[in-house]
Amino acid sequence: MQFDFEALKRFYNFDIKLLTLAQQTIKSVEEVFKKIERIKSYNQLKILNAFHKNKLSYTHLNKTDGYGYSDSGREVIEKIYSDVFGSEDSLVRIQFISGTQAISTMLFGVLRPGDLLLSISGRPYDTLQKVIGIKKGGYGNLIEFGIGYEEVDLKENNFDYEQIENLLRKQKVKAVFIQRSRGYSLRESISIEKIGQVTQFIKNISPDTIVIVDNCYGEFVEEKEPTEVGADLMAGSLIKNPGGTIASCGGYIAGKKDLIEMCADRLNTTGMGKDVGPSLGFNREILQGLLFAPHIVAESLKVAVFTAYIMETLGYEVLPRYNEYRTDIIQSIVFKDEEKLIKFCQGIQKGCPVDSNVLPEPWDMPGYSHKVIMAAGGFVQGTSLELSCDAPVREPFVAYLQGSSSFEIGVVGVLRAIEMIRRM
Ligand SMILES: *Cc1c(COP(=O)(O)O)cnc(C)c1O
Repeated sequence: MQFDFEALKRFYNFDIKLLTLAQQTIKSVEEVFKKIERIKSYNQLKILNAFHKNKLSYTHLNKTDGYGYSDSGREVIEKIYSDVFGSEDSLVRIQFISGTQAISTMLFGVLRPGDLLLSISGRPYDTLQKVIGIKKGGYGNLIEFGIGYEEVDLKENNFDYEQIENLLRKQKVKAVFIQRSRGYSLRESISIEKIGQVTQFIKNISPDTIVIVDNCYGEFVEEKEPTEVGADLMAGSLIKNPGGTIASCGGYIAGKKDLIEMCADRLNTTGMGKDVGPSLGFNREILQGLLFAPHIVAESLKVAVFTAYIMETLGYEVLPRYNEYRTDIIQSIVFKDEEKLIKFCQGIQKGCPVDSNVLPEPWDMPGYSHKVIMAAGGFVQGTSLELSCDAPVREPFVAYLQGSSSFEIGVVGVLRAIEMIRRM
């Protein structure tokens, strides 16, 4: 990769030792970058082809309002998403305000009183714990509606096949839940290959069990998505990977046609389904964002790899290591020290294109049980495909870094963050 270190010195005046370290880092990760570029090409062509196949035209960018009947743009978007994800159908809507809402819609969409939900990747993401009812707060969680919940932890970074089989044979499991990405935990993320294997295993024992995947942060990191290896439903956020930093809100659910209809009725109300939902002029953002997504995901992955290498060189434990297999864009760095964690996040903020002059502090964020510090200075609130770094302030003080729309932004952020912890 050609990187202008002279410019880095000229515009940012980093000290020569740090610049040398950055230079060595970029040289050492060359091979990993090549692999990232290759997957990017694949996904870029896959998406472009879906645009061509579905004859996207300029008029599809028009808006609808009110009920949103006959929104041909929205319909084309959902066809394109279905093709890209290899799924029968999809629901891609600005009416999802977050990934949590899309996942929640998926769960309430298909589960009924008396059904059992089984998570096989351990405890789900923080904000979903209230949705399920395993954490107090809010109204109308799954458990309150008479839906049972059990979970099996991962075992040695894979699924605990023995336990899963026992549970599937003991009782009727309506849906199995898998979280692809690590979320705020120190486990490894789960590859598409492993998701495919466990899905086959589940279907062999219990063909009617619905396999549901939380796909947040995973889109376009590999060549395939969970719905291409047998998952029945998956969901994610448009202010993460598939929105390509352009979509300013929204979420998606993709999967089997009948299940998508159930989810659409849950989102829009019984009997309304997919036919309503005004796009309000957001079709362009959603489409352009999807088109850019593989490129931005690749830039983000390069930032993650750069960070892993440089932080490991400086003596920190990182997960994954720079050359380890990746299935999401998250890079964890273990600080084991509260102050270092906070300083690092504050340094990342200094690299962000927006709000680089503010200092983030830990706060009580809705949906989380610990204080969370969030470095985020992008063009969309809360987006984490733009450069961002967040951390629940708890042992062992791990920072989770994601994004940026270009590699250079990430490099400046990480080098500024290193400066911050060095100055302590
Ligand atoms: C981001 C994320 C979610 C949903 O989060 P929102 O902030 O509600 O979009 C769910 N699961 C995982 C693993 C995530 O990373």
